[in-house]
Amino acid sequence: MFDLTALNTFALPATAQRLLRLQSCADAQAFVARRGREAALIVGGGSNLLLTGAAIELVLKVEIRGRRKVSEDAAAVIVEAGAGENWHDFVRWTLTQGWPGLENLSLIPGTVGAAPIQNIGAYGLEVSERIEALDAMDLGTGELRQFDAAACRFSYRDSVFKHAPGRWLVTAVRFRLPRRWQPLTHYGDIERELGAQGIAAPTPRQISDAIIAIRRRKLPDPAVLGSAGSFFKNPVVDQAACAGLLARYPALPHYPQADGREKLAAGWLIEQCGWRGQRRGAAGCYDKQALVLVNHGGATGAEVLALADAIRADVRAKFDLELEIEPVVV
Ligand SMILES: Cc1cc2nc3c(=O)[nH]c(=O)nc-3n(C[C@H](O)[C@H](O)[C@H](O)COP(=O)(O)OP(=O)(O)OC[C@H]3O[C@@H](n4cnc5c(N)ncnc54)[C@H](O)[C@@H]3O)c2cc1C
Repeated sequence: MFDLTALNTFALPATAQRLLRLQSCADAQAFVARRGREAALIVGGGSNLLLTGAAIELVLKVEIRGRRKVSEDAAAVIVEAGAGENWHDFVRWTLTQGWPGLENLSLIPGTVGAAPIQNIGAYGLEVSERIEALDAMDLGTGELRQFDAAACRFSYRDSVFKHAPGRWLVTAVRFRLPRRWQPLTHYGDIERELGAQGIAAPTPRQISDAIIAIRRRKLPDPAVLGSAGSFFKNPVVDQAACAGLLARYPALPHYPQADGREKLAAGWLIEQCGWRGQRRGAAGCYDKQALVLVNHGGATGAEVLALADAIRADVRAKFDLELEIEPVVV
């Protein structure tokens, strides 16, 4: 039996019968060659998992390392990283190399290989905007296949991989970092943070530093307070639904999307229902950001799900909106 409590940032109790560390593609191929019928859960940094305590047979812990420049031309630098590389360390390394483009995704926990799974995003950028291609192994056959960005079918916190859990093991990701760098500072508090430091024309590293500072203030440090970050996706609604809500709630934050729909802030909706800072047993709604559910110590996955259900019911009753859980429920 392998205790998974320390392997998920929510610190939820769960065990697996076996844990296999994959440090190379050859490790993964050897696993496929001898695997039986056991179901495997792929784990990177465990920062987007909600473990309910259900019996897990096998955990495949992805620890494939390595990062390198693949090529460059006048337009972009192509950089590759192994799936087991720490995401934030990789982002900072690209900045040190003088290849900006990922700085808005600084300090997101987890691994490079998991970043495409839910198309991580923050501060106005989704990782899909920087992915050139990735390599993934079919755990049924051992075939290593390249997916270009189109084949990944990215959308908001979603990809083709999220719909086939356990089938594809991402082994490496290649990023296209454009040479013509454009600062992306209009989102959230970035401009205010830079302004407070007297920075008018920020460098990529200064944007990264500003985002790190903002995130440290707003989000719980998993080493201190367990969480999986944002617990619900922001609902995306059509214009008519948004207008109807705005008529009743003029302060409703809403962000126009490329497809003409509007993204609403789930955290605001939850806060309006009075949940910010509330607790149900050891599970709670974070007092600095209502979108984050936390484990105050000793919570189980079932307790977190019960809290989530209560929040969803209140949001449904007040706004007639359905909140979708963001982390992968195991
Ligand atoms: C404090 C905090 C803040 C966060 N902020 C953000 C944020 O701003 N934006 C955001 O998008 N997310 C955020 N997250 C969520 C999380 O960090 C990301 O989803 C991250 O990409 C998860 O990486 P991981 O390695 O921990 O994945 P895990 O939790 O280990 O796995 C997540 C899913 O990906 C699968 N998976 C993992 N590795 C692989 C692989 N190599 N191949 C195939 N499947 C794989 C797993 O099976 C699982 O389904 C936050 C989380 C926390 C705790």
